[in-house]
Amino acid sequence: MERIYLDHAATTPVDPRVVEAMIPYFTANFGNPSSIYQEGQRAKRAIEESREKVAELLGAADAREIVFTGGGSEADNLAITGVARAYREKGNHIITSAIEHHAVLETCKDLEKHGFTVTYLPVDEYGLVDPEAVREAITGQTILISVMHANNEVGTIQPIAEISKIAHEKGVLFHTDAVQTVGSIPLDLKELGVDLLSLSAHKFYGPKGAGALYVKRGTRLRRLIHGGAQERRLRAGTENVAGIVGLAKALELAVAGLDKTVPHLVELRDYFIKELLARVDHVKLNGHPTKRLPGNISVSFEFVEGESILLNLDRKGIAASSGSACTSGSLDPSHVLLAMGISHETAHGSLRLTLGKENTKEQLDYVLGVLEETVTRLREISPLYQRQIS
Ligand SMILES: *Cc1c(COP(=O)(O)O)cnc(C)c1O
Repeated sequence: MERIYLDHAATTPVDPRVVEAMIPYFTANFGNPSSIYQEGQRAKRAIEESREKVAELLGAADAREIVFTGGGSEADNLAITGVARAYREKGNHIITSAIEHHAVLETCKDLEKHGFTVTYLPVDEYGLVDPEAVREAITGQTILISVMHANNEVGTIQPIAEISKIAHEKGVLFHTDAVQTVGSIPLDLKELGVDLLSLSAHKFYGPKGAGALYVKRGTRLRRLIHGGAQERRLRAGTENVAGIVGLAKALELAVAGLDKTVPHLVELRDYFIKELLARVDHVKLNGHPTKRLPGNISVSFEFVEGESILLNLDRKGIAASSGSACTSGSLDPSHVLLAMGISHETAHGSLRLTLGKENTKEQLDYVLGVLEETVTRLREISPLYQRQIS
């Protein structure tokens, strides 16, 4: 049976047109971009053309503002630790939110061990950060604010332009982890007004291990990886040429397709949510009803374990996630759901389906049937549920 993949927030398949664009950089154009002979210069040119393409697609003022990295996590680390080290004399305070990706949260925790203090802002029941709370958290010591553009678990989209305006009024740098939005919704750096922005190719049908950090001109950064002078001395190491070419090609295709994919996914998403809430009782939508990623469906079922649902879906040919795929196999409930005020019990029954451009309504109808049947069966053997309904 054909598998139904509904975990696009975790990763996406590489678009065949992206694979095709990458192949010459494994074969004929294999040269080291730092070498001065033709093979090297061809590779170098491919990187610089990719840089220009990415800068233009994001609305950056200058291609030199794009730094290629080994993915989204590395871009987050470079942004936060890079700014923290470069601006240490100015202050030691960082503001972020309680619902960030672990690449941001763990980086902040590491900095706390090195003399920095970090404020983790709460969110409301929809997962939204209050821009006024950001303003109130700023002190004379604050050097950086980092709030993600959209959340990978519940899909809530933050008011980034508003928060970045507040940061700049107070002379504080602003970073956003836009790994879930770049290539998924229209995005323009001129409108967002951020100083730093992270992205990752494998979230928009590009290769894994390729990402980028946008660094606005004039923003100082200390590099994390020492060695050669690649990426304007911000990231040593021979460049992942094929990965960089693939990233740029994938972004070009994703942005060109937004007019079609966004309304398609929103329609599928809203159809699925409406049907599910009508067909299964004791189920709740997580995240904001409208300020959410086009492909994100995050729900919590009472009286069942998300992990049990997942395993049953997998056996029926469906790949999904139980909330956070990044908690190292632990069964701790998601920090995002807990921060939104959802109880431990309810958080344990959460399921995340993230749609992609290749999904169809027929697939979702099949998934709805399987889900309804699975949840009903699991509840029949759940003492908690039996007590509740009797
Ligand atoms: C996937 C993801 C990351 C990590 O990106 P990698 O390229 O896998 O390192 C960071 N932040 C968010 C919001 C993500 O969804």
